[in-house]
Amino acid sequence: MTATILDGAKVAADIRSETAEAAAALASRGVVPGLSVIVAGDDPASQVYVRNKEKSAREAGIKAETLRFPATVTEAMLLAEIGRLNADAEVDAILVQLPLPGGIQSSRILEAIDPAKDVDGFHPVNVGRLVQGKRAPVPCTPAGIMELLRREDVPLRGVRALVLGRSDIVGKPMATLLTKADATVTVAHSKTRDLPAVCREADLLVAAIGRPAFVTADFIRPGAVVIDVGINRIATAAEVARCFPGDEAKAAALAAKGSLLVGDVHPVDVKERASRYTPVPGGVGPLTIALLLANTVDLCRARRGL
Ligand code: NDP
Repeated sequence: MTATILDGAKVAADIRSETAEAAAALASRGVVPGLSVIVAGDDPASQVYVRNKEKSAREAGIKAETLRFPATVTEAMLLAEIGRLNADAEVDAILVQLPLPGGIQSSRILEAIDPAKDVDGFHPVNVGRLVQGKRAPVPCTPAGIMELLRREDVPLRGVRALVLGRSDIVGKPMATLLTKADATVTVAHSKTRDLPAVCREADLLVAAIGRPAFVTADFIRPGAVVIDVGINRIATAAEVARCFPGDEAKAAALAAKGSLLVGDVHPVDVKERASRYTPVPGGVGPLTIALLLANTVDLCRARRGL
């Protein structure tokens, strides 16, 4: 079987242009949605993510600002900043880029955000609302995956779905959303016994564990739909040979760039076993940013009663 690509980049571009239209409609009424991003420390991946988020927000007509703090920032300083943003009527959405520097309890920071401005949907009030099926901002990565599945007509009702990973950011909300969409959901994790066999039961497999090319052919039911959330950097010739056997172009790319991106799913195996799959890069990543923008506009409308 040769799988076809679920084009996350295209769906993300569609969502971004719809969001830009919605922001333009608000602007014509004198309202500009405002997004504030807090980043602390010097994690290079976070810096890249935050730059991309700010640039994409501006392109969509959202007023975006990034507030940068050194790794030495204290919890009290971040709480004070969040208090200020909560009180600022021009700020509709607040995002705290994770991970935060060591010593700072991210749960205390996330819980200080006004739930009405919680664009990532990580506040316990919003997590509870989501689980109860009430209106709430939905964490951007699982929300983006649901949009992709909906727009690509992937059936969910009654299918056996397997979510690999149980983080608060991806795995848990993903399982909640798939359950709400009438899939029969299993959540697997590092303590799951006989993981390949459990995964092989699934018609829809969502992998979010942060382990490069971990999900190999023996995890994938022939014809399954596979969503790869993982973003992993590989930097050795041995890893590249394992992920892309015999692929000289990839070996050359490693030599030129020093590292390559792979997902949690083996990029060659998935093409041979799945019916449809999201590639890395270009699959789930662009959807996450698109949903951040869409969530910002939604929060703006809800907060301002528009
Ligand atoms: P976390 O590290 O928070 O959670 C990882 C989960 O995977 C845990 O539940 C853990 O199980 C499980 N796990 C780890 N190793 C194994 C294993 N060997 N077998 C089975 N389960 C395992 O990760 P995140 O959810 O934050 O992120 C997952 C991946 O998704 C990362 O690569 C991250 O970079 C990527 N990501 C991508 C995004 C995008 O926009 N594309 C957005 C967010 C994340 P346990 O609970 O038992 O420890």
